Amino acid sequence: MKNAIIIGGGLAGLTCSILLQSKGYQVTLIEKKKYPFHRVCGEYISNEVLPFLESLNIRVSELNPARLIHLSVTSVSGKIMETPLPLGGFGLSRYKFDFLLFEHAQKLGVQFIFEKVIDINFTENTFKISLSNNQILESAIAIAAYGKRSNLDQKLKRQFFYRRSPYLGVKYHIKTDLANNLIRLDNFTGGYCGVCKIEDDKYSLCYLSETANLKKYSGISEMEEQILFKNPHLKYLFNNSEFIFEKPEVINEISFERKTLVEDHLLFCGDAAGMITPLCGNGMAIAIHSGKILAESILSYTHKNSGLNRLLLEKEYIYRWEKEFSIRLKSGRLIQKLFGNKHVSNLSVSALKSFPSVTRFLVKKTHGKAFI
Ligand SMILES: Cc1cc2nc3c(=O)[nH]c(=O)nc-3n(C[C@H](O)[C@H](O)[C@H](O)COP(=O)(O)OP(=O)(O)OC[C@H]3O[C@@H](n4cnc5c(N)ncnc54)[C@H](O)[C@@H]3O)c2cc1C
Repeated sequence: MKNAIIIGGGLAGLTCSILLQSKGYQVTLIEKKKYPFHRVCGEYISNEVLPFLESLNIRVSELNPARLIHLSVTSVSGKIMETPLPLGGFGLSRYKFDFLLFEHAQKLGVQFIFEKVIDINFTENTFKISLSNNQILESAIAIAAYGKRSNLDQKLKRQFFYRRSPYLGVKYHIKTDLANNLIRLDNFTGGYCGVCKIEDDKYSLCYLSETANLKKYSGISEMEEQILFKNPHLKYLFNNSEFIFEKPEVINEISFERKTLVEDHLLFCGDAAGMITPLCGNGMAIAIHSGKILAESILSYTHKNSGLNRLLLEKEYIYRWEKEFSIRLKSGRLIQKLFGNKHVSNLSVSALKSFPSVTRFLVKKTHGKAFI
């Protein structure tokens, strides 16, 4: 039997595991946390993933997600514009979404190990994966789907790890009275906050902020009062909502730099291969789609008699990844510059309001087409 090891069980790793396992591979997926768990994420998912998930018999509709068809953007000082979302999306917590994919993978026979990977070495055409419980696993194929930043990036001496990233992310679940088909993006100095309905009667409220904002104050809530509340829409939202978590989920060192897709035959997918800026709301779709492209590339070059053609597989994966995602990631980095500053965000919101075709163009540049 052909074996593959996947490190990281977010949407990229889970998708890849499901496809490889259902096509004859025995997959071992190593995840350091136990499902279900919360993650920092805005929880708006582009509808482009729906035909693919349906083709796998993964039914998100059973989790009662919100249907999101409008986008509204507010500037730092509170100017507002609203536009329909051409393809639309759905709101669903990662707690539920990742758990759904985990259960699906488990039913197919994917073997899960809940440990932290501490090292990866490639010698004599075999990966040796060391776990925190001193176990060492071996496999001809190893996939790094461990997200935006991990201890392993340092072990592997990946270049982006040594450049400090100035962003942190904060996420809450709330109950509020916002429209249930809208995703709203509120700007503040040095960041932006997304809010949308998810399953049941809950909303996800998640923001990205420059770390410098936090350094000026004693903690997250003082930063929110002093910086986020300058946008009147955010002040109203925070003051008129019920916060469900005792403490927010927080992550830091979020990097949007270019990353490598293959290093010493280790194959990267999802955020570990490259992360789109969150205001595009497309990271989850890219994670799922890149897991799919990687699994298909592996399957195309796994031959019954001659084994795996590593070089052709890596070439095909890089080609398909670049074709599908590199413009989206570049566009995301450029669009992020239009927000998070009082004057620039005011101008951007006014311009987007006056020229809806520009808004549609930007949404198109940062989203993909529905795929199967
Ligand atoms: C503030 C913010 C808001 C966002 N909002 C949205 C949004 O609204 N819509 C959207 O589409 N995208 C959004 N994103 C992006 C989205 O969350 C990511 O693109 C997506 O989660 C990537 O999935 P992944 O599978 O690559 O990584 P992850 O979901 O991060 O999964 C990686 C997994 O690897 C595990 N792991 C890490 N290191 C190890 C190790 N050494 N050993 C074992 N396991 C390990 C982790 O525990 C984790 O479970 C947002 C991101 C941020 C930061």
